[in-house]
Amino acid sequence: MSTSTANGFAMTGTGGGHRPTTGSAYSEWGELDIPTVERIEHGRDIPGERVVRADVCVIGTGAGGAPVAKELAEGGMNVVMLEEGDRFTPDDFTARPREMSTLLYRDAAQVTTVGNVPIVLPLGKGVGGTSMINSGTCFRPPRAVLEMWGERFGLDNLNEPELDPYFRRVEREVSVAQVPAEIAGRNAEVVKRGADALGWSGDYIWRNARGCVGSGVCNFGCPTAAKQHVGQTYVPRAWAAGATTFAGAKAERILMRGTRATGVEARTSAGGLLRVECDTVIVACGAIHTPLFLAEQGLGRESGELGRNLAIHPATAVRALFDEEIDMARGVPQSYFIDEFADDGIMLEGAAGPPDYAAMSTPYAGAEHRDLMLQYRNLSQFGLMVSDLSRGKVRKRAGQVEIVYNLNDEDTATFKRGIERLCELYVAAGARTLFPPVAGVAELAPDDLGRLRDTDIRPRDLTLMAFHPLGTARADARPAHGVVDAELKLHGWEGIYVADGSVVPSSIGVNPQITIMALATRLAYGLLGKPAPEHEPQPETIAHPRITKPHALTA
Ligand SMILES: Cc1cc2nc3c(=O)[nH]c(=O)nc-3n(C[C@H](O)[C@H](O)[C@H](O)COP(=O)(O)OP(=O)(O)OC[C@H]3O[C@@H](n4cnc5c(N)ncnc54)[C@H](O)[C@@H]3O)c2cc1C
Ligand code: SF4
Repeated sequence: MSTSTANGFAMTGTGGGHRPTTGSAYSEWGELDIPTVERIEHGRDIPGERVVRADVCVIGTGAGGAPVAKELAEGGMNVVMLEEGDRFTPDDFTARPREMSTLLYRDAAQVTTVGNVPIVLPLGKGVGGTSMINSGTCFRPPRAVLEMWGERFGLDNLNEPELDPYFRRVEREVSVAQVPAEIAGRNAEVVKRGADALGWSGDYIWRNARGCVGSGVCNFGCPTAAKQHVGQTYVPRAWAAGATTFAGAKAERILMRGTRATGVEARTSAGGLLRVECDTVIVACGAIHTPLFLAEQGLGRESGELGRNLAIHPATAVRALFDEEIDMARGVPQSYFIDEFADDGIMLEGAAGPPDYAAMSTPYAGAEHRDLMLQYRNLSQFGLMVSDLSRGKVRKRAGQVEIVYNLNDEDTATFKRGIERLCELYVAAGARTLFPPVAGVAELAPDDLGRLRDTDIRPRDLTLMAFHPLGTARADARPAHGVVDAELKLHGWEGIYVADGSVVPSSIGVNPQITIMALATRLAYGLLGKPAPEHEPQPETIAHPRITKPHALTA
């Protein structure tokens, strides 16, 4: 059996069923405090040369950049944020996936890895970074993973008690709460029914959304402003504290005097040159672009680890047809999770979506595709994410970004197990036809799971995506093994820090956005010389799933 302790940490065991932790992660959030002051300039209006002076320049305004900028600004520093993308507001969000993919994603959401299986790896581009188009899931990293970081990377300070105040602060800033069953959607309902029938542990997901109406388009910009992404929370709070954002300004190089940073030069979207003179530079371009940005200038290469160790949490989805109506377009798309197999590196998390999203992501063509889409209302889809042991690398070849990632045998086998489990769940929930994402087994009757079990799966047989690039400028206390130290300072260089997914040194087995935000918040407190935040609210339940041993420890 699975039980929960008073603070919500689940104990080990199998066959737990729905966990008794439902309710808000925090019982009540007060009034939403979003300042109205806007301190943003647009690169399209800067065709010539412009020089500004700041204490700190933060490059990138995503899950890492925005929190560190806001905390530093509130701590009294003069902060400039540079963002390559534009700024978008809910008025821009039409809820039409095709339009939004082009507008809000880098390269129209077509970034893909090369290797033994192509994996689509979408990245957001704009004020708020990828948090603007993410699903809003908020899990703390498992304690066991943090302990492993101490043992393997010398990151003893990044332990659970030390990080707890920063997580609490982040969770308040972005209003983390558990999805109420009423808006979780029929897709989650059928999956929960299957999990309950099998006695598998699961629960409604914790998310950063307030007043969510379950419109189902989180990945294409939340049109109701319910999702509290960092471009809508941290960035305006940074503005209120005096920081300025330059959107449409792509940082091209860090200015140096010897080993010390003295500023940043950025190219504006009008072709102008923006120079920020400052003593401290925080690189937060995300785990794909941070290592490339640093490498181009010969920074952070001493350990040989820059651009390597790329973990991505590769993911896929199983689809199933039911006799009953599900209508995936209604409800929170990612509202339920199953952590029964999390210790084995398998997290099952909802991934529903509107019809055009389903049409784009369903691996069929022609008449088959048409037939399936005509039955869209009876279609369910659920995601499966692997805490990967495979590692990739990021580099530039012929001026182009190349993300090399080969799925190893162990992760391939984990996918097979996970897909089988998800199919079993759908059978238990009463599905009439199953669609595993496996070449050669595209369609299965409920009594035909043996065909899937008997199939040898190679990486290229899988249809995969990934949403969590991590580790390419990994933190390690030892300069010979990592790119930044435990305080996220670039080993061997002065005044340069990294605050984004690239510092996270391993797969964490859960969605990483609040881990990135908490590490960025801790960096700001460190730079300000402040003790950890006090008086942050204590959650009634802690938003992380049941993982008792880090799958990645065996890597
Ligand atoms: C579809 C999708 C769903 C997801 N769902 C979840 C979820 O539910 N929960 C979760 O925890 N995580 C989720 N994630 C992942 C999460 O959003 C990311 O892990 C997180 O946003 C990464 O933060 P970051 O700071 O590393 O990078 P980003 O948030 O990507 O921010 C980097 C920013 O830097 C900018 N930039 C890059 N280069 C430059 C430059 N040279 N100059 C200026 N600016 C630059 C980029 O344009 C971007 O805005 C999801 C991701 C995707 C794609
Ligand atoms: S489901 Fe909720 S958070 Fe997602 S887009 Fe709709 S209203 Fe926004």
